[in-house]
Amino acid sequence: MATVPTIRLNNGVEIPQLGFGVYQIPPEETVEATRTALEVGYRHIDTAEMYGNEKEVGQAVRESGIDRSEVFVTSKLNNGFHRRDDALRAFDQTLADLGFDQLDLFLIHWPLPTIDVDYVETWKAMEEIYAGGRCRAIGVSNFNPHHLRRLFGETEVRPAVNQIEVHPYLANDEVRAFDADHEIVTEAWSPIAQGKVLGDPVVTRIAEKLERTPAQVVLRWHVQRGDVVFPKSVTRSRVEENFALFDFELDTGDMAALTGLDRGERTGPDPDTFDYVPR
Ligand code: NAD
Repeated sequence: MATVPTIRLNNGVEIPQLGFGVYQIPPEETVEATRTALEVGYRHIDTAEMYGNEKEVGQAVRESGIDRSEVFVTSKLNNGFHRRDDALRAFDQTLADLGFDQLDLFLIHWPLPTIDVDYVETWKAMEEIYAGGRCRAIGVSNFNPHHLRRLFGETEVRPAVNQIEVHPYLANDEVRAFDADHEIVTEAWSPIAQGKVLGDPVVTRIAEKLERTPAQVVLRWHVQRGDVVFPKSVTRSRVEENFALFDFELDTGDMAALTGLDRGERTGPDPDTFDYVPR
């Protein structure tokens, strides 16, 4: 089984660079999908309260027979819990649903800069959670540099990661460079743009040349850029395919050609305006 490299977060915790994402996997399919990923060799699972499948992720990890310390699990604070007390309660619920004593990484899912709760208050609650010792690292998701700068000015703990949308149609290099300059690891969500980049002629040409699949080429591009990725699939053969990234390389020309596909095209919402709060 190929060894997945780890990346050291700014507090010394190691995160596997390749994981398995469970967004849009219905709860009734999540135990099976997560079990498959663990069997294939994934040791990093990315879930969220918003995905509605934390219980099933926890069940699969607990039933796998793999030592809990060997599986890195991330979850995220849902948008309705940005006030301090709600955030603390939501973290307790996440741990209870996963059935764990400790979470590896907890993220603010969205900054929601236009709602009536300031994400600085939310981040201070995350700091309390971290200080309590039941979470090994804390971070953010969908934060732009101007959101992060406010945290730096008004709070103590530097986020360990920033999970943002990145794929060849949205290279997001400004945010990635800002993260890197501030010892924040970038995690690239929707790394294959939910499949939209796989038919691109540049991607398919490189895939044919290297005798790899388009998904492997795009995921390898992320890995060589140094980002953390966690592609999602419920199909075993694709779960295996997406794991086989560490026995080939893209040369500088291929890397540049893929980065050159950037057209600033999001598949998801814009973090500066997204304000969805479940009621
Ligand atoms: P993705 O880019 O991983 O694409 C997933 C889709 O691509 C699958 O539904 C499948 O249809 C297809 N696919 C997967 N592997 C394939 C292969 N080898 N060949 C052909 N098609 C393949 O999209 P995603 O699920 O949106 O993103 C991955 C993870 O990122 C999520 O599961 C979640 O953990 C995370 N995420 C986070 C946020 C956030 O706001 N923080 C938002 C979206 C996703």
